Amino acid sequence: MNLLKKPVCPRCGYVRVVKSGHVRGHQRWLCRRCGYQFPRTNGPVAGGKRRR
Ligand SMILES: [Zn+2]
Repeated sequence: MNLLKKPVCPRCGYVRVVKSGHVRGHQRWLCRRCGYQFPRTNGPVAGGKRRR
């Protein structure tokens, strides 16, 4: 199901992101490179939910 893989910064693509608290029950991440904060994204990630 959900892999324990850290997301990457959608802004600069940096992989070194840290947890920056939660927002409405969702994990928020902070990019250590550009400082961009983003919620956990599982949209464009390959291997998402697949309906059959
Ligand atoms: Zn970034």
